[in-house]
Amino acid sequence: MSASGAVDRLAPWACDPRSARGRRLHEPAATPRTEHERDRDRIVHSNSFRRLVYKTQVFVNHEGDLFRTRLTHSLEVAQLGRSMARQLHLNEELVEAIALAHDLGHTPFGHAGQDAVQECMREHGGFEHNLQSLRVVDALEIRYPDFDGLNLTFETREGILKHCSRRNAERLERREPGGPARRFLDRSQPSLEAQLVDLADEMAYNAHDIDDGVRAGLLTTAQLEQVPLFVRHRDAVLDAHPALAAQPGRRLLLETLRQMLSAQIGDLVATTSAAVAALAPADADAVRAAPPLAGYSAALRAQIDELKRFLFGSLYRHPQVMQNTERARTVVAELFAAYAAAPAEMPADYAGAADLMRAVADYIAGMTDRYALREHQRLTGRTLFAV
Ligand code: MG
Repeated sequence: MSASGAVDRLAPWACDPRSARGRRLHEPAATPRTEHERDRDRIVHSNSFRRLVYKTQVFVNHEGDLFRTRLTHSLEVAQLGRSMARQLHLNEELVEAIALAHDLGHTPFGHAGQDAVQECMREHGGFEHNLQSLRVVDALEIRYPDFDGLNLTFETREGILKHCSRRNAERLERREPGGPARRFLDRSQPSLEAQLVDLADEMAYNAHDIDDGVRAGLLTTAQLEQVPLFVRHRDAVLDAHPALAAQPGRRLLLETLRQMLSAQIGDLVATTSAAVAALAPADADAVRAAPPLAGYSAALRAQIDELKRFLFGSLYRHPQVMQNTERARTVVAELFAAYAAAPAEMPADYAGAADLMRAVADYIAGMTDRYALREHQRLTGRTLFAV
Protein backbone atom coordinates (compact mmCIF):
# COMPACT_ATOMS: atom_id res chain seq x y z
CA MET A 1 0.00 0.00 0.00
CA SER A 2 1.33 3.44 -0.82
CA ALA A 3 2.16 5.79 2.04
CA SER A 4 -0.77 8.04 1.18
CA GLY A 5 -3.16 5.04 1.09
CA ALA A 6 -2.04 4.03 4.58
CA VAL A 7 -2.41 7.59 5.84
CA ASP A 8 -5.96 7.83 4.47
CA ARG A 9 -7.02 4.86 6.61
CA LEU A 10 -5.88 6.44 9.88
CA ALA A 11 -8.39 6.95 12.67
CA PRO A 12 -8.81 10.58 13.83
CA TRP A 13 -7.01 9.68 17.11
CA ALA A 14 -4.00 8.13 15.36
CA CYS A 15 -0.71 10.03 15.03
CA ASP A 16 -1.11 11.43 11.53
CA PRO A 17 2.35 11.81 9.96
CA ARG A 18 1.05 14.85 8.05
CA SER A 19 0.65 16.69 11.33
CA ALA A 20 3.75 15.27 13.06
CA ARG A 21 5.30 17.65 15.59
CA GLY A 22 8.51 17.44 13.65
CA ARG A 23 12.20 16.94 14.33
CA ARG A 24 14.39 18.95 16.66
CA LEU A 25 16.34 20.08 13.61
CA HIS A 26 14.11 20.87 10.65
CA GLU A 27 14.70 18.77 7.54
CA PRO A 28 12.91 18.90 4.19
CA ALA A 29 10.26 16.18 3.68
CA ALA A 30 11.33 12.81 2.26
CA THR A 31 8.27 12.15 0.09
CA PRO A 32 6.87 9.68 -0.77
CA ARG A 33 7.95 8.32 2.62
CA THR A 34 6.06 9.64 5.64
CA GLU A 35 8.15 11.17 8.43
CA HIS A 36 7.61 8.06 10.57
CA GLU A 37 8.65 5.70 7.78
CA ARG A 38 11.78 7.78 7.54
CA ASP A 39 12.35 7.39 11.31
CA ARG A 40 12.00 3.61 10.95
CA ASP A 41 14.48 3.57 8.08
CA ARG A 42 17.03 5.58 10.06
CA ILE A 43 16.69 3.19 13.00
CA VAL A 44 17.18 0.11 10.80
CA HIS A 45 20.37 1.59 9.31
CA SER A 46 21.86 2.56 12.69
CA ASN A 47 24.83 0.82 14.34
CA SER A 48 22.93 0.32 17.58
CA PHE A 49 20.20 -1.58 15.77
CA ARG A 50 22.69 -4.03 14.25
CA ARG A 51 24.31 -4.57 17.64
CA LEU A 52 21.00 -5.86 19.05
CA VAL A 53 21.63 -9.20 17.36
CA TYR A 54 24.51 -9.87 19.77
CA LYS A 55 22.77 -8.66 22.91
CA THR A 56 21.10 -10.91 25.45
CA GLN A 57 17.36 -10.87 25.98
CA VAL A 58 17.22 -13.46 28.81
CA PHE A 59 19.63 -16.15 27.63
CA VAL A 60 23.23 -15.13 27.03
CA ASN A 61 23.75 -14.84 23.30
CA HIS A 62 26.22 -17.69 22.87
CA GLU A 63 24.14 -20.24 24.83
CA GLY A 64 22.30 -21.30 21.67
CA ASP A 65 21.48 -20.11 18.19
CA LEU A 66 17.70 -20.32 18.56
CA PHE A 67 17.19 -18.18 21.64
CA ARG A 68 15.79 -14.70 21.22
CA THR A 69 18.23 -11.87 21.10
CA ARG A 70 17.33 -8.21 21.55
CA LEU A 71 17.10 -7.98 17.76
CA THR A 72 14.67 -10.84 17.20
CA HIS A 73 12.71 -9.69 20.26
CA SER A 74 12.42 -6.20 18.74
CA LEU A 75 11.26 -7.68 15.41
CA GLU A 76 8.58 -9.70 17.21
CA VAL A 77 7.42 -6.59 19.06
CA ALA A 78 7.22 -4.74 15.72
CA GLN A 79 5.23 -7.60 14.14
CA LEU A 80 2.71 -7.83 16.99
CA GLY A 81 2.45 -4.05 17.20
CA ARG A 82 1.85 -3.63 13.48
CA SER A 83 -0.83 -6.33 13.45
CA MET A 84 -2.74 -4.51 16.16
CA ALA A 85 -2.09 -1.04 14.72
CA ARG A 86 -3.52 -2.07 11.38
CA GLN A 87 -6.70 -3.40 12.95
CA LEU A 88 -7.05 -0.25 15.05
CA HIS A 89 -6.34 2.10 12.10
CA LEU A 90 -3.33 3.52 13.87
CA ASN A 91 -0.03 4.63 12.32
CA GLU A 92 1.72 1.31 11.58
CA GLU A 93 5.03 2.84 10.58
CA LEU A 94 5.22 4.82 13.81
CA VAL A 95 4.50 1.64 15.79
CA GLU A 96 7.22 -0.14 13.83
CA ALA A 97 9.74 2.67 14.42
CA ILE A 98 9.09 2.75 18.17
CA ALA A 99 9.21 -1.07 18.42
CA LEU A 100 12.50 -1.38 16.53
CA ALA A 101 14.07 1.36 18.67
CA HIS A 102 12.60 0.49 22.06
CA ASP A 103 15.58 -1.56 23.27
CA LEU A 104 18.44 0.33 21.58
CA GLY A 105 19.69 1.59 24.95
CA HIS A 106 19.92 -1.83 26.56
CA THR A 107 23.30 -2.83 27.92
CA PRO A 108 24.91 -6.18 27.10
CA PHE A 109 23.70 -9.16 29.22
CA GLY A 110 20.09 -8.06 29.60
CA HIS A 111 18.88 -6.91 32.99
CA ALA A 112 22.02 -8.03 34.79
CA GLY A 113 24.14 -5.67 32.71
CA GLN A 114 21.67 -2.88 33.23
CA ASP A 115 21.66 -3.35 37.01
CA ALA A 116 25.46 -3.28 37.04
CA VAL A 117 25.70 -0.05 35.01
CA GLN A 118 22.99 1.47 37.23
CA GLU A 119 25.01 0.57 40.31
CA CYS A 120 28.21 2.06 38.83
CA MET A 121 26.38 5.28 37.89
CA ARG A 122 24.55 5.69 41.20
CA GLU A 123 26.75 8.62 42.27
CA HIS A 124 27.14 9.98 38.75
CA GLY A 125 23.65 10.83 37.55
CA GLY A 126 22.20 7.30 37.29
CA PHE A 127 21.39 5.10 34.33
CA GLU A 128 17.93 4.28 32.94
CA HIS A 129 17.63 2.05 29.89
CA ASN A 130 14.65 3.85 28.33
CA LEU A 131 16.44 7.14 28.71
CA GLN A 132 19.54 5.52 27.23
CA SER A 133 17.51 4.41 24.17
CA LEU A 134 16.53 8.05 23.68
CA ARG A 135 20.15 9.11 24.19
CA VAL A 136 21.22 6.66 21.45
CA VAL A 137 18.83 8.13 18.87
CA ASP A 138 19.33 11.73 20.05
CA ALA A 139 23.09 11.86 20.47
CA LEU A 140 25.17 8.69 20.31
CA GLU A 141 24.59 7.55 16.73
CA ILE A 142 27.09 9.49 14.63
CA ARG A 143 26.41 9.26 10.91
CA TYR A 144 24.77 12.39 9.51
CA PRO A 145 26.73 15.45 8.38
CA ASP A 146 24.64 18.12 10.12
CA PHE A 147 23.69 16.62 13.48
CA ASP A 148 24.50 13.98 16.09
CA GLY A 149 21.95 11.21 16.60
CA LEU A 150 19.18 10.32 14.15
CA ASN A 151 17.08 13.50 14.52
CA LEU A 152 13.84 11.49 14.86
CA THR A 153 10.33 12.94 15.11
CA PHE A 154 8.76 13.82 18.44
CA GLU A 155 6.26 10.94 18.12
CA THR A 156 8.96 8.26 17.80
CA ARG A 157 11.03 9.78 20.63
CA GLU A 158 7.91 10.00 22.81
CA GLY A 159 7.35 6.25 22.34
CA ILE A 160 11.00 5.38 23.02
CA LEU A 161 10.98 7.20 26.37
CA LYS A 162 8.61 4.72 27.98
CA HIS A 163 9.60 5.42 31.57
CA CYS A 164 11.59 8.23 33.09
CA SER A 165 12.36 9.22 36.67
CA ARG A 166 11.10 12.60 37.82
CA ARG A 167 14.66 13.88 38.28
CA ASN A 168 15.63 13.02 34.71
CA ALA A 169 12.31 14.27 33.34
CA GLU A 170 12.95 17.66 34.98
CA ARG A 171 16.44 17.75 33.51
CA LEU A 172 15.20 16.84 29.99
CA GLU A 173 12.34 19.32 30.22
CA ARG A 174 14.75 22.16 31.04
CA ARG A 175 16.79 21.29 27.97
CA GLU A 176 13.80 20.70 25.68
CA PRO A 177 10.59 22.31 26.99
CA GLY A 178 7.47 20.41 25.89
CA GLY A 179 9.62 17.49 24.69
CA PRO A 180 9.11 13.76 25.34
CA ALA A 181 9.84 14.06 29.09
CA ARG A 182 6.99 16.49 29.71
CA ARG A 183 4.40 13.77 30.20
CA PHE A 184 6.25 12.37 33.22
CA LEU A 185 5.86 15.77 34.90
CA ASP A 186 2.22 16.41 34.04
CA ARG A 187 1.32 12.69 34.22
CA SER A 188 -0.28 12.53 30.78
CA GLN A 189 -0.16 9.54 28.41
CA PRO A 190 1.79 8.98 25.21
CA SER A 191 0.12 8.36 21.82
CA LEU A 192 -1.95 5.22 21.29
CA GLU A 193 0.84 3.96 19.03
CA ALA A 194 3.30 4.21 21.95
CA GLN A 195 0.81 2.58 24.35
CA LEU A 196 0.43 -0.26 21.86
CA VAL A 197 4.17 -0.91 21.58
CA ASP A 198 4.47 -1.02 25.36
CA LEU A 199 1.87 -3.81 25.45
CA ALA A 200 3.32 -5.57 22.38
CA ASP A 201 6.69 -5.66 24.19
CA GLU A 202 5.17 -7.46 27.17
CA MET A 203 3.10 -9.74 24.90
CA ALA A 204 6.21 -10.74 22.95
CA TYR A 205 8.44 -11.56 25.89
CA ASN A 206 5.78 -13.43 27.86
CA ALA A 207 5.37 -15.82 24.92
CA HIS A 208 8.96 -16.10 23.76
CA ASP A 209 10.36 -16.49 27.25
CA ILE A 210 8.16 -19.58 27.70
CA ASP A 211 9.42 -20.91 24.37
CA ASP A 212 13.08 -20.17 25.19
CA GLY A 213 12.72 -21.37 28.78
CA VAL A 214 11.37 -24.75 27.67
CA ARG A 215 14.00 -24.98 24.93
CA ALA A 216 16.72 -24.36 27.50
CA GLY A 217 15.28 -27.06 29.77
CA LEU A 218 14.66 -24.53 32.55
CA LEU A 219 10.86 -24.70 32.35
CA THR A 220 8.92 -27.94 32.22
CA THR A 221 5.47 -28.75 30.90
CA ALA A 222 4.50 -29.77 34.41
CA GLN A 223 5.40 -26.30 35.73
CA LEU A 224 3.31 -24.67 33.02
CA GLU A 225 0.26 -26.38 34.57
CA GLN A 226 0.36 -23.51 37.09
CA VAL A 227 -0.38 -20.97 34.37
CA PRO A 228 -4.12 -20.83 33.56
CA LEU A 229 -3.61 -18.71 30.41
CA PHE A 230 -1.26 -21.35 29.01
CA VAL A 231 -3.40 -24.31 30.12
CA ARG A 232 -6.56 -22.87 28.57
CA HIS A 233 -4.94 -22.59 25.13
CA ARG A 234 -3.03 -25.85 25.45
CA ASP A 235 -6.31 -27.68 26.17
CA ALA A 236 -7.99 -26.00 23.19
CA VAL A 237 -5.13 -27.11 20.94
CA LEU A 238 -5.41 -30.68 22.24
CA ASP A 239 -9.17 -30.68 21.64
CA ALA A 240 -8.59 -29.70 18.02
CA HIS A 241 -5.50 -31.90 17.53
CA PRO A 242 -5.67 -34.83 20.00
CA ALA A 243 -2.77 -36.62 18.30
CA LEU A 244 -0.37 -33.90 19.49
CA ALA A 245 -0.66 -35.22 23.07
CA ALA A 246 1.42 -38.27 22.20
CA GLN A 247 3.72 -36.57 19.73
CA PRO A 248 7.26 -35.76 20.77
CA GLY A 249 8.68 -32.43 19.71
CA ARG A 250 7.59 -28.86 20.04
CA ARG A 251 4.42 -28.65 17.93
CA LEU A 252 2.05 -28.62 20.90
CA LEU A 253 4.01 -25.93 22.72
CA LEU A 254 4.40 -23.74 19.64
CA GLU A 255 0.77 -24.05 18.60
CA THR A 256 -0.30 -23.19 22.15
CA LEU A 257 1.89 -20.08 22.17
CA ARG A 258 0.61 -19.10 18.72
CA GLN A 259 -3.01 -19.33 19.86
CA MET A 260 -2.19 -17.52 23.10
CA LEU A 261 -0.76 -14.61 21.09
CA SER A 262 -3.74 -14.53 18.71
CA ALA A 263 -6.17 -14.48 21.63
CA GLN A 264 -4.27 -11.64 23.32
CA ILE A 265 -4.23 -9.61 20.11
CA GLY A 266 -7.97 -10.18 19.63
CA ASP A 267 -8.75 -9.16 23.21
CA LEU A 268 -6.48 -6.12 23.13
CA VAL A 269 -7.89 -4.87 19.82
CA ALA A 270 -11.51 -5.34 21.02
CA THR A 271 -10.90 -3.79 24.46
CA THR A 272 -8.94 -0.86 23.05
CA SER A 273 -11.52 -0.23 20.30
CA ALA A 274 -14.28 -0.09 22.89
CA ALA A 275 -12.30 2.29 25.13
CA VAL A 276 -11.54 4.58 22.20
CA ALA A 277 -15.15 4.47 20.95
CA ALA A 278 -16.45 5.38 24.41
CA LEU A 279 -14.19 8.44 24.64
CA ALA A 280 -14.15 9.40 20.94
CA PRO A 281 -10.98 11.49 21.25
CA ALA A 282 -10.85 14.28 18.66
CA ASP A 283 -7.20 13.67 17.83
CA ALA A 284 -3.91 12.24 19.12
CA ASP A 285 -3.54 15.03 21.67
CA ALA A 286 -6.93 14.14 23.16
CA VAL A 287 -5.56 10.58 23.59
CA ARG A 288 -2.55 12.01 25.44
CA ALA A 289 -4.82 13.92 27.83
CA ALA A 290 -7.05 10.88 28.52
CA PRO A 291 -6.37 7.93 30.84
CA PRO A 292 -4.54 4.98 29.16
CA LEU A 293 -6.76 3.67 26.36
CA ALA A 294 -4.85 0.64 25.11
CA GLY A 295 -5.26 -2.48 27.20
CA TYR A 296 -6.77 -5.89 27.81
CA SER A 297 -10.07 -6.94 29.35
CA ALA A 298 -9.79 -7.19 33.15
CA ALA A 299 -10.00 -11.00 33.04
CA LEU A 300 -7.16 -11.38 30.54
CA ARG A 301 -5.06 -8.72 32.29
CA ALA A 302 -5.29 -10.78 35.50
CA GLN A 303 -4.17 -13.94 33.67
CA ILE A 304 -1.27 -12.14 32.02
CA ASP A 305 -0.13 -10.82 35.40
CA GLU A 306 -0.26 -14.39 36.72
CA LEU A 307 1.90 -15.53 33.80
CA LYS A 308 4.40 -12.76 34.50
CA ARG A 309 4.64 -13.77 38.16
CA PHE A 310 5.24 -17.35 37.07
CA LEU A 311 8.02 -16.35 34.67
CA PHE A 312 9.61 -14.15 37.29
CA GLY A 313 9.68 -16.89 39.92
CA SER A 314 10.43 -19.89 37.71
CA LEU A 315 12.57 -18.55 34.87
CA TYR A 316 14.14 -15.17 35.62
CA ARG A 317 15.10 -16.42 39.11
CA HIS A 318 16.15 -19.87 37.93
CA PRO A 319 19.56 -20.76 39.45
CA GLN A 320 21.09 -21.19 36.00
CA VAL A 321 19.87 -17.79 34.85
CA MET A 322 20.95 -16.25 38.17
CA GLN A 323 24.44 -17.71 37.81
CA ASN A 324 24.85 -15.99 34.43
CA THR A 325 23.34 -12.86 35.92
CA GLU A 326 26.00 -12.79 38.64
CA ARG A 327 28.82 -13.30 36.15
CA ALA A 328 27.45 -10.65 33.80
CA ARG A 329 27.19 -8.21 36.68
CA THR A 330 30.85 -8.83 37.52
CA VAL A 331 31.96 -8.41 33.89
CA VAL A 332 30.20 -5.06 33.58
CA ALA A 333 31.28 -3.76 37.00
CA GLU A 334 34.93 -4.68 36.36
CA LEU A 335 34.84 -3.19 32.86
CA PHE A 336 33.42 0.01 34.28
CA ALA A 337 36.17 0.24 36.89
CA ALA A 338 38.87 -0.53 34.30
CA TYR A 339 37.78 2.25 31.90
CA ALA A 340 37.22 4.74 34.72
CA ALA A 341 40.78 4.10 35.91
CA ALA A 342 42.30 4.11 32.40
CA PRO A 343 40.07 6.15 30.05
CA ALA A 344 42.64 5.81 27.24
CA GLU A 345 41.54 2.17 26.91
CA MET A 346 38.37 3.56 25.30
CA PRO A 347 38.16 5.16 21.84
CA ALA A 348 39.32 8.80 21.80
CA ASP A 349 35.85 10.40 21.60
CA TYR A 350 34.83 8.59 24.80
CA ALA A 351 38.18 8.98 26.58
CA GLY A 352 38.15 12.75 25.99
CA ALA A 353 34.53 13.37 27.02
CA ALA A 354 33.84 16.12 29.57
CA ASP A 355 31.76 13.75 31.73
CA LEU A 356 33.99 10.69 31.95
CA MET A 357 31.59 8.50 33.95
CA ARG A 358 28.75 9.14 31.49
CA ALA A 359 31.12 8.31 28.63
CA VAL A 360 32.07 5.00 30.29
CA ALA A 361 28.38 4.16 30.76
CA ASP A 362 27.61 5.07 27.12
CA TYR A 363 30.53 3.02 25.86
CA ILE A 364 29.65 -0.09 27.90
CA ALA A 365 25.90 0.23 27.23
CA GLY A 366 26.60 0.20 23.50
CA MET A 367 28.60 -3.05 23.63
CA THR A 368 27.40 -6.42 22.44
CA ASP A 369 27.74 -9.33 24.89
CA ARG A 370 30.73 -10.77 23.07
CA TYR A 371 32.54 -7.46 22.70
CA ALA A 372 32.10 -6.81 26.42
CA LEU A 373 33.55 -10.27 27.18
CA ARG A 374 36.54 -9.68 24.90
CA GLU A 375 37.23 -6.28 26.46
CA HIS A 376 36.84 -7.70 29.95
CA GLN A 377 39.34 -10.43 29.17
CA ARG A 378 41.77 -7.97 27.58
CA LEU A 379 41.64 -5.58 30.54
CA THR A 380 41.48 -8.05 33.45
CA GLY A 381 43.07 -11.19 32.00
CA ARG A 382 40.13 -13.20 33.36
CA THR A 383 37.53 -15.26 31.49
CA LEU A 384 34.16 -15.45 33.25
CA PHE A 385 32.14 -17.01 30.43
CA ALA A 386 33.33 -19.68 28.03
CA VAL A 387 32.30 -18.32 24.61
MG1 MG B 1 11.64 -5.08 24.97
